[in-house]
Amino acid sequence: MDKERRRFIRSAAIAAVAFASPEFSINSAAKNNMLFSINKHHNSSSKMKLSWTPYNLQLKHTFTISGFSRTTTPVVLTEIEYDGVVGYGEASLPPYLGESQASVIDFLKRVDLSGFNDPTHIEDIVHYVDSIAINNTAAKASVDIALHDLAGKIIGAPWYKMYGFDKRDVPDTTFTIGIDTDEVVREKTIEAKDQFNILKVKVGGPDDKRMINAIRSVTDLPLSVDANQGWTDRHEALDMIYWLKEQGVVMVEQPMPKNDLDNISRLTEMSPLPIFADESLQRLSDIERLKGVFSGVNIKLMKCTGMHEALKMRNMAKALGMKVMMGCMTETSCAISAASQLYSGMDFADLDGALLIGNDCFDGAKLEGGKIIASDLPGIGVTPNRELNFSHN
Ligand code: MG
Repeated sequence: MDKERRRFIRSAAIAAVAFASPEFSINSAAKNNMLFSINKHHNSSSKMKLSWTPYNLQLKHTFTISGFSRTTTPVVLTEIEYDGVVGYGEASLPPYLGESQASVIDFLKRVDLSGFNDPTHIEDIVHYVDSIAINNTAAKASVDIALHDLAGKIIGAPWYKMYGFDKRDVPDTTFTIGIDTDEVVREKTIEAKDQFNILKVKVGGPDDKRMINAIRSVTDLPLSVDANQGWTDRHEALDMIYWLKEQGVVMVEQPMPKNDLDNISRLTEMSPLPIFADESLQRLSDIERLKGVFSGVNIKLMKCTGMHEALKMRNMAKALGMKVMMGCMTETSCAISAASQLYSGMDFADLDGALLIGNDCFDGAKLEGGKIIASDLPGIGVTPNRELNFSHN
């Protein structure tokens, strides 16, 4: 029996079971529609069409990390169309990570999906996409996210449901207060303190204590800190972490240089606060060697090639007894909504990326009571809120 025929029989059997169940009362036109919709996505002549468009995110506030400032972040948005159904994806490209709109578009031009005739075969497709070139993790994520959106729409459910997650069983998102003058820091903190339950501060420079004190002058909210590899002396870092704990800081991200694992593991051992890996970690294969070095890992879709691998990382870190957080780059509600599908049960979240931009081109996951909550739409749960000119060139 050929593959198409097996598929048809399986689809027809599913439909027959559905129609036979007592609570399933439906007129014949709707029945025909349902059969049509079950089968139309298995038409072997259908092909997935990948297209893309570069887009520049305008930041609401100038973003500063350790002396480096910027006001825009380039992204590439992707679309995969199959039989009239469209899935959306995104590659976010902060300049320090080495990918650009040009390198993403070059990569996307090499992606040939013509060998696949079922978008729900995600395992096979992302394996192929990963094999095209090394690195290019944001470009790969843009295909992975669009594919998940497409497949979820075809199946008719949001991914958090398919994963078996409660979309509200998620940690509060942190909101980053950028390095600035005391007056601006107080202003931004006052603006944020009623919308968020935890704030994040970038540390690792000469302004650390001043920043924390300025925030503490207007709120008692818990804080997380991210040193972005900025501390080089383990003993000074430990002193600082003790001071931070007294100020109500609850976790520390990437205290020391990413390859200095000996010092980091000794710091983690002595630290009164959990220490999370960000720059020290990219993909699934990195997690095992970080057990015992860090207390937890920061998973970001743009680092790890997308949702398929991020879920595996979440599960592996948990299985190894490590804490897990979901992070993000500056990105639209497209990539944030993708992340919102899979961070149930994690310990921390840093999903403020779309809240920091003034020209978000998608509606999707929303801030509710300090948490980023997925929408109920199928796939990753997004709708574009303006015209986006996707093309194949
Ligand atoms: Mg970080």
